[in-house]
Amino acid sequence: MLSERPVVVILIGPPGSGKGTQSARLSAALTLPKISTGDILRSYASNEGPLSEKLSKILASGALVPDDILASIITERLSCSDCENGFILDGYPRNLDQAIFLEKLLTKKGSKLIVIEIVVPESVLVKRVTGRFSCKSCGAIYNQYFAKPKLESMCDQCGGSEFYYRVDDKESVILERLKSYSLQTLPLVDFYSDQDALCKIDGNQNFEDVYKDILSCIYKKVAEVPRDDYIKDALSD
Ligand code: AMP
Repeated sequence: MLSERPVVVILIGPPGSGKGTQSARLSAALTLPKISTGDILRSYASNEGPLSEKLSKILASGALVPDDILASIITERLSCSDCENGFILDGYPRNLDQAIFLEKLLTKKGSKLIVIEIVVPESVLVKRVTGRFSCKSCGAIYNQYFAKPKLESMCDQCGGSEFYYRVDDKESVILERLKSYSLQTLPLVDFYSDQDALCKIDGNQNFEDVYKDILSCIYKKVAEVPRDDYIKDALSD
């Protein structure tokens, strides 16, 4: 186990910064579940249900889904037993109100919080996002400019032959999503850096180097003695 306390890793980064791919790899390496609110919302939108039409419209526009919907999704997901030792959040929180809501949920669990900000220049992001496509059966992510499957129409990971592009990865929508990232999500960087939970990672490197930087930051943060525990140990000497 990574730590005796539950470890919560939050990945913050603009669309195209690699959060989805990095969090999948971290999830396997750290044996912690990856929770992507974007994936959960996309599945609600594509299945028949009371929210499906409303969500489909919001997702296609690139705007944020209302906080109360996210609050019930995240409360339900974090109460599942696979989250007991911690989890990796990809895409939540995305604004200050969501961060404060999450804070209250985490206080109950006494978790160690580690926030990774992946920084990538805007010009690189647009190409990464508009070229992105995924395997329909296993979700593996590719890019038509940078990372095609080895065989043109076959997924490297599961052999699947059907792929899809996200509706919100069009250039016009990506600009809207980048705007909402700067206005609403970037203020979280100060919020978490004030709590000494933040690591900034250069996301404009190859996937392996970004991954190594993230992992070493997580191990470094986990090894830090929490102030409360330090005081407890000092008193018991
Ligand atoms: P993502 O897959 O993380 O890029 O998210 C895709 C879309 O889902 C976003 O553009 C938002 O419309 C919606 N979404 C995902 N997470 C959140 C969140 N925490 N708050 C509001 N909307 C979200």
